Amino acid sequence: MSVVLVINSGSSSLKYSLVDVEREAELASGLIERIGQPSGVVGHTARVVAGPGEAAPAMLAARHSEERAIRDHGAAFDVMLQQFAAHGPDLAEHPPVAVGHRVVHGGARFFEPTPITPLVEINIDELSVLAPLHNPANLAGIRAAKAAFADVPHVAVFDTAFHQTLPAAAHTYAIDAGLARDHRIRRYGFHGTSHKYVSEAAARFVGRPLESLRQIVFHLGNGASVTAIDGGRSVETSMGFTPLEGLVMGTRSGDIDPAVQLHLARRAGLDTDGLDSLLNKRSGLLGLGGSNDMRDILAGRDAGDEAATLAYDVYVHRLRAYAGAYIAQLGGVDVISFTAGVGENAAAVRADALATLGFMGVRVDAARNAERGGTRRISADDSSVDVLVVPTDEELEIARQTLSVV
Ligand code: AMP
Repeated sequence: MSVVLVINSGSSSLKYSLVDVEREAELASGLIERIGQPSGVVGHTARVVAGPGEAAPAMLAARHSEERAIRDHGAAFDVMLQQFAAHGPDLAEHPPVAVGHRVVHGGARFFEPTPITPLVEINIDELSVLAPLHNPANLAGIRAAKAAFADVPHVAVFDTAFHQTLPAAAHTYAIDAGLARDHRIRRYGFHGTSHKYVSEAAARFVGRPLESLRQIVFHLGNGASVTAIDGGRSVETSMGFTPLEGLVMGTRSGDIDPAVQLHLARRAGLDTDGLDSLLNKRSGLLGLGGSNDMRDILAGRDAGDEAATLAYDVYVHRLRAYAGAYIAQLGGVDVISFTAGVGENAAAVRADALATLGFMGVRVDAARNAERGGTRRISADDSSVDVLVVPTDEELEIARQTLSVV
């Protein structure tokens, strides 16, 4: 009995995944979008997974999609249950023993997977001060899920939890200490579930104990972050008080002199919402190169487009700066891993990010780097550091962590 329903609830969306932890298999997944709008979108994929000793089934996955109005998160759960009933798998045959919820912000309070009690709900709600977009949406999903699955435990897995091991020197901003304390301003870090999953999978892949390894994990998706992991513990990460800090992302600027905001407020008449939208939604690859999708940026660069080329160069420049800084923080590095949409698919980004580290013996093998597939080594045999591609699986990680406390 190791099936867990994983829920990732956004303000107008509900992502779900039915995971068999023992078999490390996703039995079904779905995305319900535009909740609360006149026409919502429902996508459901049912997978057929071979049992132990069984031959692989002929049809591996069946996708279904439809449009319909979905009033709220409660209605979204009804729709999800209808999808399971209509397209499978049968929840009576694969009953979830628990529901695992991705919760973005756990503040300084939550550092492990936490069974959701009414008090925990109050805490998640209270942490909305720090994550005004995400925590209320996560909570709406929790409440609707508790109504739909009343008989099983619900567990919160926090995106910030893995980074609770950051030393004070890494999580403290150099601002007025009293003000920072009053407003809980510090670096929290995000994507923790992914960084944890990838660093553990990387240790298994290289066949060395996690405790002995200095690792750097680049999670390069639409949102992007990099983490330095010493002996399995996060010791430095690029996202901070919010996910805005750090690397260049699809639509986020990442690091920027904070005085730019003051200047724009004074000179360009931007208010807080305008600055928020500029830096979170209209910057990064989109702001520089006209698209938040690395595929478009790469195609533009190949076609000689100047804006796309600059966007790519700024993106890579930042990756190199962080790689160097984190190698210095760790006092060396044993394994560097790439994950998420860009990290798993863009060979050029991986090669260029590490291209200047030849002086310390880091060598990416061009042929290996060009191959596709699952977890794989892309460094040359004589490289001083193992460089890997490790597809992330946040759903499996949330399911595992959920199961570990029920
Ligand atoms: P994620 O947030 O992990 O789903 O990553 C999404 C991003 O991955 C997209 O916005 C693209 O920028 C990037 N991506 C996906 N596929 C590719 C690909 N084949 N080559 C380069 N970038 C890709």
